[in-house]
Amino acid sequence: RVMNHSLENIRAEFPVLAQNIKNAKPFAFLDSTATTQKPMTVIQVMHDFYTKHYSSVKRGVYQSSEKTTQAFEKARKEIASFINATSENEIVFTSGTTASINLVAWSYGRKFLQPGDEILISALEHHANIVPWQLIAEEKGALLRVIPVDDQANLVLEKIPELLTEKTKIVAITHISNVTGTVNPIKEIIQTVRNFSKNAKILIDAAQSIAHQKIDVQELDCDFLAFSGHKMYGPTGIGVLFGKYELLESMPPLFGGGEMIKSVSFEKTTFAAPPARFEAGTPPIAEVIGLGEAVKWLKEIGLDNIHRKESGILEYAISQFSEIPEIHILGNPKERGALLSITLEGIHAHDAAMILDEENIAVRSGHHCAEPVMKRFNIPATLRFSFGVYSEKWEIDRALIALKRVIRLFK
Ligand code: PMP
Repeated sequence: RVMNHSLENIRAEFPVLAQNIKNAKPFAFLDSTATTQKPMTVIQVMHDFYTKHYSSVKRGVYQSSEKTTQAFEKARKEIASFINATSENEIVFTSGTTASINLVAWSYGRKFLQPGDEILISALEHHANIVPWQLIAEEKGALLRVIPVDDQANLVLEKIPELLTEKTKIVAITHISNVTGTVNPIKEIIQTVRNFSKNAKILIDAAQSIAHQKIDVQELDCDFLAFSGHKMYGPTGIGVLFGKYELLESMPPLFGGGEMIKSVSFEKTTFAAPPARFEAGTPPIAEVIGLGEAVKWLKEIGLDNIHRKESGILEYAISQFSEIPEIHILGNPKERGALLSITLEGIHAHDAAMILDEENIAVRSGHHCAEPVMKRFNIPATLRFSFGVYSEKWEIDRALIALKRVIRLFK
């Protein structure tokens, strides 16, 4: 196990980045916003679990099941401390950000929303933070309101007080946009919501921030925080919903089944306390253990170091792309996360992405599950470049050469 990580050589910890060579060209992976690659230690821990200790959790008194349960609950503690939750009981395991947001919508929303209540989201949301609210709003007769975004891709914060009423029950905002990279000032937004609305509960979609900057849920004072394992160097199929404990306690279960009950009879079933109440059925055990390892690994490297390295790459990419007149960078937010979207004059993003793929450069093209953002900026798609702790300048250089080729080809 690598203990002394060097940020310069961190790429060596990622097997995929070393192996994926096409036409003798090394893999430029510029799609960490979609998902991150996995460091060897995460892969190894999951491999060890399946090959050496595999058994179920909380269901056996035999030794390996006890050991598995301990490892599983240790991961929960690791994650709680990573975001400074007051207790590991505030950490609910889900299958990802999408499931975490849906859990709040279908449990909290279904119980507490009344006809005429309002849900406030922003114009920069991923579909995962729009559609669940639309569905529950329709079922409950609630209304969806949207914080607008300006031409630079900053949310128009001055509008927030006007959009809040005593009927606002839920405010759900992304920390970092997966399209424009806008870092929303969530601390300021949360304070504004607290000042103007007594009833609103606040959910932060941290899918794009959790692996890039320190998040302290107590300092932020958010009610819920949702994120995915696979975007933070952990496995797929696992995510987290943080919720303040008294809120989780007030919420009914969404799924019924094994391990979420206190007692079951045909006359009356009572439910376990959170987080077990929301974790019906056999959980993704290896994935939880893998996520615990990813969090440990992130802590060892340090989010401040990661942020510094990624900011350097981002600035380099912006300076290089800005020199090409045919490249338009979408938005100019006050603060930008480790990603940027571009459009190319007269060239569709998919065409460009295919040419980049010929050069073994992985980027994302399309609407990025955020069609309202495309509509707001009046574009069909963007080409998105996104970075992780392993990103290096040569990847930008290669992308730039390929982009110049794209421009020559299609002009
Ligand atoms: N919110 C944001 C801002 C995202 O970028 C994503 C993933 N692209 C999601 C939510 C959904 O995450 P997942 O697909 O892992 O559930």
